[in-house]
Amino acid sequence: MKIKNINGTSQTKCVCGSWLKHWEKFSGQTVTYCPAMGCMNKDLVGAHVQKASSSDDKWYIYPLCSAHNQSTGELEVSDSYKLVSANKKETCEK
Ligand SMILES: [Zn+2]
Ligand SMILES: [Zn+2]
Repeated sequence: MKIKNINGTSQTKCVCGSWLKHWEKFSGQTVTYCPAMGCMNKDLVGAHVQKASSSDDKWYIYPLCSAHNQSTGELEVSDSYKLVSANKKETCEK
């Protein structure tokens, strides 16, 4: 699938402690390597992303390495990992 990174949102924390923890908690998944195509970095963060080429403009959390978290434009990432809602009202602050 294709996603695009939303920049400038990393300062917004949630009660999970980090957005990567938030992603792990609500996806039920864990990840070792950055799921972007061809990337083997392990310095993962929970990135705020949107689906690319979709009318769905909601914000999601997806694990990316810190380099890819700085990227702009579309990223091709693994379908094996879920997009978790970044809306705290729908997840950890429900
Ligand atoms: Zn959370
Ligand atoms: Zn990466």
